Amino acid sequence: MAAKGKLVAWLEEVSKEDVPLVGGKAANLGELLRAGIRVPPGYVVTAEAYRKFMEETGLFNKILDIIKSIDINNTAQLEEASRKIKQLILDTPMPKDLEELIRQYYRELAKRVGVENPLVAVRSSATAEDLPEASFAGQQDTYLNVRGEDEVVKKVKACWASLFNARAIFYREQMKIPHEKTYMAVVVQKMVMSRSAGVMFTVHPVTGDDNVVVIESAWGLGEAVVGGKVTPDEFIVDKKTLKVVDKKIAEKKIAIIYDPEKGKNIEIELPPEKAKAPSLSDEEAVELAKQAIKIEKHYGMYMDIEWAIDQEMKFPDNVFIVQARPETIWNVKKKKGGEEAKEAEEAVPPEKAEVIVRGLPASPGIASGVARVILDPHSEEAKQFREGDILVTKMTDPDWVPIMKKAAAIVTDEGGMTSHAAIVSRELGIPAVVGTREATKKIKTGMVVTVDGSRGVVYKGKVSAEKKPEKVEAAVAPAIPKEILREIYPVTATKIYMNLGEPDAIDKYLDLPFDGIGLMRIEFIITDWIGYHPLYLLEQGKGDFFVDKLAEGIAKVASAIYPRPVVVRFSDFKSNEYRGLKGGEKYEPIERNPMIGWRGVSRYIHPKYREAFKLEVKAILKVREEMGLKNVWVMLPFVRTTWEVKEVLKIMEEVGLRRGKDFKVWIMAEVPSVAILAEEFAKLVDGFSIGSNDLTQLVLGVDRDSQLLAEMGYFDERDPAVLKAIAMIIKAAKKHGRTVSICGQAPSVYPEIVEYLVRLGIDSISVNPDAVIPTRRLVASIERKLMLERLAKLEEKLSKLDI
Ligand code: PEP
Ligand code: MG
Repeated sequence: MAAKGKLVAWLEEVSKEDVPLVGGKAANLGELLRAGIRVPPGYVVTAEAYRKFMEETGLFNKILDIIKSIDINNTAQLEEASRKIKQLILDTPMPKDLEELIRQYYRELAKRVGVENPLVAVRSSATAEDLPEASFAGQQDTYLNVRGEDEVVKKVKACWASLFNARAIFYREQMKIPHEKTYMAVVVQKMVMSRSAGVMFTVHPVTGDDNVVVIESAWGLGEAVVGGKVTPDEFIVDKKTLKVVDKKIAEKKIAIIYDPEKGKNIEIELPPEKAKAPSLSDEEAVELAKQAIKIEKHYGMYMDIEWAIDQEMKFPDNVFIVQARPETIWNVKKKKGGEEAKEAEEAVPPEKAEVIVRGLPASPGIASGVARVILDPHSEEAKQFREGDILVTKMTDPDWVPIMKKAAAIVTDEGGMTSHAAIVSRELGIPAVVGTREATKKIKTGMVVTVDGSRGVVYKGKVSAEKKPEKVEAAVAPAIPKEILREIYPVTATKIYMNLGEPDAIDKYLDLPFDGIGLMRIEFIITDWIGYHPLYLLEQGKGDFFVDKLAEGIAKVASAIYPRPVVVRFSDFKSNEYRGLKGGEKYEPIERNPMIGWRGVSRYIHPKYREAFKLEVKAILKVREEMGLKNVWVMLPFVRTTWEVKEVLKIMEEVGLRRGKDFKVWIMAEVPSVAILAEEFAKLVDGFSIGSNDLTQLVLGVDRDSQLLAEMGYFDERDPAVLKAIAMIIKAAKKHGRTVSICGQAPSVYPEIVEYLVRLGIDSISVNPDAVIPTRRLVASIERKLMLERLAKLEEKLSKLDI
């Protein structure tokens, strides 16, 4: 008990034995300092100081009199007594020697840190460890950014006064805890004047590699990193060699700093040179890693640590740890250790498993993992999401894609088979169950669940699946050489295309037997690779960034599958989705019905959006002309009228993109007007692609995201009215010598629709990656059946001729 009997003590003088004197908070800080962990320096005004103040000034008796005089159950009286007591404490001067001591320590602290009048934090540190938390309810007062000895003295008293909050008085009365035996210590600690700050992990949060320390860093206060306001720099330090083995320097456009004039934290924009500069030197990164290793040792587990580098002090004394807590995911996994294999053995069969929720089987496959219920993709919980977790949310939109990419499976409350969650999951090749209504209520974060996306069921715990390939790669026999793999699948007269959005996914699907990409959605590239609203980029003079990134994404796919065609669909975000892009709020209206609002080509021809559309056209031009990838064609989404098509074609021509022998322009046939006037549209373009998702919602007047209507069977592409619209489009296209394709989900889900389309003579069918092989087989069998039927008819005719 190094601090025994002291009124004020340095933090490093106290240890865990001193809890009754200095409180839990101060004792913990003392322990960390003793372990060589650099927390911001400071001192503690002990419980003994508090007792001295209360006794020597006679305050204890006065306070007890006030409490005795009231009816503790009368809230108004209690509140009034609390107010009076607190005022009394604040107004009563401290014994001179005590006050001088507190001031002396502050001056000495200033010397130690080499800063005149340093800003400090003044925090209460409850001493009565044996008492339940509630006896200190509301008393953990903390005053940040306190400057000067006068202010420190005042704030120490304010902490003491907080011991007499109404709730605390009431609690102690109820529990018969003597007020005069409840003491309070107060910690005075230097505020870190944060030049750079962030978090670090003693285990790689994604891979689980515990040989490294992963440091995330940005300029200013740590909130920018913790709150996800910036993409931080990342440093990876090897624990053994203490060398920086990898670093990624991000563009950190903003910083959060303390504004002394406003007395609060503010967000500032950083000039480009600063934004792009590393926020940490290698030397500092290594020093942080050393601290992290000590902390891990001290607590005996993987840790998640907040740190800051002080701008007023000198290296290495300026490297501070401000918070340390156990890392949540990998500690659990490590504890389980070898148990995981056992767990797999222990998996129960589906018939014995408990079903938590049911919904629509939106993306096939089965996966188990730890569920994480996340309602906002930018929230703190979202940041905790790790590779292999199960995402449980209400509904997704493009902002969710980065998290979806890490998920082992996805479960949503809302949405139908053609909702964002369904489409993206299929594309990413991960199981999904959508429209469960209550997954976010019934599934709790941390639960182990199994998602069966083929049946639309979510089970509690780990459920064994009959061994079915979960991913398409697994569906491809590995022993067959890649070059001939594509050739062994049946040749079909109807082309089998694949839908794709995320360019990097092409590597995974390259060996599938598809004849081209029938729908390349570019929304993935815009949200993931670009992130900014195109008009915002144009305003910043950064239109080229948009063009280059978009071209890069498209080229990745087009070069990988050359010479097979890639039909790139120009962007089809809804206005609410465009708003979600950085800088988007300024340019996007708030629409009541974005689904049928400013969407598709209606945007491109609008004077306010035209220039942004031209960036997309320029990207196509760049891919085709500069990179020579002539296999890139385009498709216009959400076409409603013929005049807008003419207008868009004109804009494309202005930029230099003209229809030609090797450059096809298609339109999406997804608004009923295109089916009704299909012959008129056929005169304007080279082909159609049926967007059965939107076509169904618009023919039947059902919101494609409404799980209620989906469950009632309304959202169904097999409805005769939808089928008739499809037939009208195919017939008109054929009559005018145009090609016709389909890229909605229908053929990926319903074999009978595939048959219907093949019989009508559709040119190509574009399906999700998981459906490429089955659809090719199915189409081949249908085509053979058709030939046999025709042969049979011919034979019948011949037999009638009797020759
Ligand atoms: C469709 O509507 O069928 C389609 C393919 O487009 P999206 O689902 O992107 O609206
Ligand atoms: Mg559509």
